[in-house]
Amino acid sequence: MKIGIISYQGSFQEHFFMMKKAMTSEGVNGDVIYVKSKDQLEHVDALIIPGGESTTIWRMMNAMSIANRVKEKIEEGIPVLGTCAGAILLSKESIDNKVKEKQFGTLGTMDIAVIRNYYGRQRESFQSIIKLENYGELKTVFIRAPAIVKIWGDTNVIAKLDNVVVAAMERNMIATTFHPELSDNDVVHRLLIRLAKK
Ligand code: GLN
Repeated sequence: MKIGIISYQGSFQEHFFMMKKAMTSEGVNGDVIYVKSKDQLEHVDALIIPGGESTTIWRMMNAMSIANRVKEKIEEGIPVLGTCAGAILLSKESIDNKVKEKQFGTLGTMDIAVIRNYYGRQRESFQSIIKLENYGELKTVFIRAPAIVKIWGDTNVIAKLDNVVVAAMERNMIATTFHPELSDNDVVHRLLIRLAKK
């Protein structure tokens, strides 16, 4: 199994180590690779889009001409985990907490609407324990996190925090507004591996 991480900016290294740990937990023999080019993208069985700055990652994906291919691959059914900025990039609708009228460029593959910087500025970042429906608990962090404010179609909620959706799943796609790579538990990464095993 080969899992690729979009690695232009953000927490891609942390995802690398958490995914390695999850592979060991799942008893899977595989590679985790940093994806920056179209060529690297062709060889992965699952993909991670990390947290960071969604506008920067989006710009880089376009500058490197991989955005369209990533979208196609997700639509073809490759499992994908988008965390924080990555969740924003999966969403069909995204607005900013402040600049409400502005839509941001995204892949637009997942039936979710998000509000960027939902909880406010950097100093409003926080830690919390999240219960994932059917998958267990993890202690994790929210860093200038978005919120998932609407879901439709085949999307299911897998976690809420104070009534706000913080994790959702639609067929081959998982979106979390928190950082599972900065956590005490590899449960979310294991979930991606299980989707890739199917
Ligand atoms: N606020 C960032 C954005 O809008 C997301 C923050 C994160 O990924 N930790 O892209």
